[in-house]
Amino acid sequence: MGKRGEDWNWSIQYIMNTYGFKFKKSLGQNFIKEESIVAKIADAANIEAKSLVIEIGPGSGMLTKQLALRASQVLAYEIDSQLENILDIELNKFTNIDIIFADFLKRNIKDDIARYNFDHLYLVANLPYYITTPIITKFIEEDIPVDKIVIMVQKEVGERFNAKSGTKEYSSLTVFLNYYFDIKSEFLVSKDSFIPKPNVDSIVISLTKRKVLLPLHDKTHFFTLVRNSFKFKRKNLRNNLKEYNLDKVEQALNSLNKKLTNRAEELTLEDFVFISNYLTEE
Ligand code: SAM
Repeated sequence: MGKRGEDWNWSIQYIMNTYGFKFKKSLGQNFIKEESIVAKIADAANIEAKSLVIEIGPGSGMLTKQLALRASQVLAYEIDSQLENILDIELNKFTNIDIIFADFLKRNIKDDIARYNFDHLYLVANLPYYITTPIITKFIEEDIPVDKIVIMVQKEVGERFNAKSGTKEYSSLTVFLNYYFDIKSEFLVSKDSFIPKPNVDSIVISLTKRKVLLPLHDKTHFFTLVRNSFKFKRKNLRNNLKEYNLDKVEQALNSLNKKLTNRAEELTLEDFVFISNYLTEE
């Protein structure tokens, strides 16, 4: 295994020339050019001992290497079989990297990670931007026991994760993410640091699992309530929550100094938890 800081004699140009690799725009392939950036992403994860790190989309393997230098084990998912031969050769120094060549969204992640013995689970990735939300939603809905997520996403998307209620960036995903995680913007990455160059800048965001979650009577009820409240963005709560007992919703809202004429984006995470618990009281 190579040492950290070793000169890998590594560049995307080299990969393209040596293997005849061609970028597929449809797969969100924008690779990072600078090794210092991938090292910074891996550092932001603060990977602890006995760790399993999941990476989605290793691409040419630059971040994968930095993760393998810090983690006990790396499990990567890559959809593009064109990269199989490249990663095989470029990562052959490492014995702690497994790559599954498949669509991450179609895998049963709990089954995949059951093969490993670990104390801490991480997701660290430069995500394919066209499926950022489905990937994060999958982690949440399938209750993957992840300790920390460090992801690079489009700047505007990252800003949505931590949006404040009342802003147009605030969405049901913001509420779900803030329920589970402490969210921090780590650093910005210019579009010039990628090949091919995307249209927008990126941001690295870290999401650390909260040690204590707000108590909920019924988690499924909470998630459905939040999703329904945001169903039609322009509609108010009365219209989006037609299927609920509106008298009770109104009572809950009154004690929060809110009304049925408010929109979902005007409610905080704590408001949603309160309403859900009020509606599911014995
Ligand atoms: N990690 C590399 C880097 O930082 O330079 C590449 C990141 S690139 C933004 C996204 C990667 O995700 C590409 O390698 C792409 O082929 C892969 N990818 C796209 N869709 C995927 C999917 N559904 N499942 C797994 N990998 C996917």
